[in-house]
Amino acid sequence: MSLLCVGSVALDSIETPFGKRDRILGGSATHFSIAAAFFTPINLVAVVGQDFPQEHLDFLKSLKIDLKGLEVAEGETFRWEGRYGFDLNNAETLATYLNVFADFQPKVPEAWQQPEHLFLANIHPDLQRDVLNGVSRPKFVALDTMNFWIEGALDSLKQTIELVDMIVINEAECRQLAKEASLLKAARTIQSWGPKTVVAKLGEYGALLFHGEQIFSAPGFPLEQVMDPTGAGDSFAGGMMGYLAQLDGAPQFEDLKQAVILGSVMASFNVEDFSCDRMRRLNAAEIKQRYQDFQDLAHFQPAAESLFA
Ligand code: AMP
Repeated sequence: MSLLCVGSVALDSIETPFGKRDRILGGSATHFSIAAAFFTPINLVAVVGQDFPQEHLDFLKSLKIDLKGLEVAEGETFRWEGRYGFDLNNAETLATYLNVFADFQPKVPEAWQQPEHLFLANIHPDLQRDVLNGVSRPKFVALDTMNFWIEGALDSLKQTIELVDMIVINEAECRQLAKEASLLKAARTIQSWGPKTVVAKLGEYGALLFHGEQIFSAPGFPLEQVMDPTGAGDSFAGGMMGYLAQLDGAPQFEDLKQAVILGSVMASFNVEDFSCDRMRRLNAAEIKQRYQDFQDLAHFQPAAESLFA
């Protein structure tokens, strides 16, 4: 079992109705890896600048995240500045500074070049493809992306999408990418490009899984307090892939359903505090309990036949 991930490792500046934080630990690969590391060891390929604080490196190393593929390059770390209003489902990007990612050439360490599972977290689709092309074909490859790349690198993104088994994407970006108003039609369009599985994230309302012809709906977990939704999508993907990496062979629909619920569990914790702070305090017993709570939340009895008589 091995899970390789490429994506951004970032310093984020975030403003939500509940607070403001500057230069906190963020990035798609960071949130992904921290969530996935609860289930499986991660090999991380990314780049940071010389300004990246040692304490963050120490924290990541303290988890099951191998940083052999994390390059420290001359220059500044990737930075993202975002703001949320009371509708926490929609981030407003204030600024994106690619910094060291602008010239990054991902190098997958030789020992990692036969991964069983690969996650291409949100980053330039060229870099995603470089990593995919630099390894022997994994058993299962998944990808995340966002409007920034749909608007700025669509051709490259489509080339990458053709090569993956699953795409995990938020619902607005799913419609934008497929140019379809109906989420079902959008998912079907993206499936026709290559991926058998499309997961559309619906923010606080949960997620929809499209696998071949089959569809599964997962609820969002009702939370009293969402402090910072940043990284919800990445920790969702981390929970999914962390679980799938434990399985042999290509995942079946039932496996993917469980993975979506574990993704929802991990995302629901991640948003309870800024950056990765809730994940620092999280333990396996809490994860188990929330999985059970999800089961209770979505369970219902079959209707009595007499109802339709
Ligand atoms: P999420 O909230 O899960 O969609 O992802 C949030 C994380 O993605 C933040 O921690 C950012 O650092 C990172 N991010 C934002 N924009 C980009 C981008 N254009 N490319 C890669 N990562 C990004």
